[in-house]
Amino acid sequence: MTFHDTISQNISRIQQRILAACQRSGRSPSEVQLIAVTKYAEVEWAQALINLDHRDFGESRPQQLSERSTKLSDNIRWHMIGHLQRNKVRPVLETGAMIHSVDSQRLLDRIELIAAELGITVSIFMEVNISGEESKYGFAPESVSQSVTRMSDYRHVKLLGLMTMAPHADDPEDARPYFRALRDLQQQMNQGLPAENQMQSLSMGMSGDFEVAIEEGATHIRIGSTLFEGLSSD
Ligand SMILES: *Cc1c(COP(=O)(O)O)cnc(C)c1O
Repeated sequence: MTFHDTISQNISRIQQRILAACQRSGRSPSEVQLIAVTKYAEVEWAQALINLDHRDFGESRPQQLSERSTKLSDNIRWHMIGHLQRNKVRPVLETGAMIHSVDSQRLLDRIELIAAELGITVSIFMEVNISGEESKYGFAPESVSQSVTRMSDYRHVKLLGLMTMAPHADDPEDARPYFRALRDLQQQMNQGLPAENQMQSLSMGMSGDFEVAIEEGATHIRIGSTLFEGLSSD
């Protein structure tokens, strides 16, 4: 099989699994956006996905995001999903990416500042360290609402919702309580917000746990390894 065939088969299997998870939980597949995470993928693999009409791509490193956004066709929606240092905000915003990994007030302030300079509005997710693991970035669940309240003065960021990563586990069911906790936190925070500012999206679910994430309300799932299964980079 060529790498095109492998990728085509992988993505249709994933789409079937998304559909099944939506059916199980009474959701519409149109509510769930699949983001192809290409951080370990060759550019040719990303191009194969573009040829299959896939348009949402995620990168975790600013440098690679910038490089690829110039190399690949320009009607791609880029998603920055990894830790972002404040001195890398400008090049990332110049790619037009939305940012899933806003993990501190200082980063948020910087995004607002640079977006204002560029005259753009940036869609963001606030990353929450819902499991409290020391190795993870993100707002503590109890501190995120303070930042969201402050954000009502910001004119250049649009808050889509919360994002998290569940702890690594062999059994996807182990991720469910973390996804549920993120959804509950978002619902709770929405109660204090005016309707037009309420968060509508949840970025959660990766290769190992995306079906559980969909069942718990994910709108953006970020998938890398399963999408490129059976391929090896050189
Ligand atoms: C790498 C990465 C993913 C994709 O992980 P897979 O397990 O390869 O699907 C999703 N989200 C973030 C933040 C990542 O860094």
